[in-house]
Amino acid sequence: MALPKTRISRARGRKRRTHYKAANVSYGSCPQCGQTKMPHRACPNCGYYRGRPVISATE
Ligand SMILES: [Zn+2]
Repeated sequence: MALPKTRISRARGRKRRTHYKAANVSYGSCPQCGQTKMPHRACPNCGYYRGRPVISATE
């Protein structure tokens, strides 16, 4: 099993983790209405997901 040769200091470990979350923030845009929406979620604006209405349209 692979083992780290030297112990990574508390500061170095924390420093590495600082840019992890910031790089992972991503949003998709709805192909139906073009609004930003969460990936893998139905659009909160038009209720479409994968090209068809999932949530009954709010009229
Ligand atoms: Zn939409």
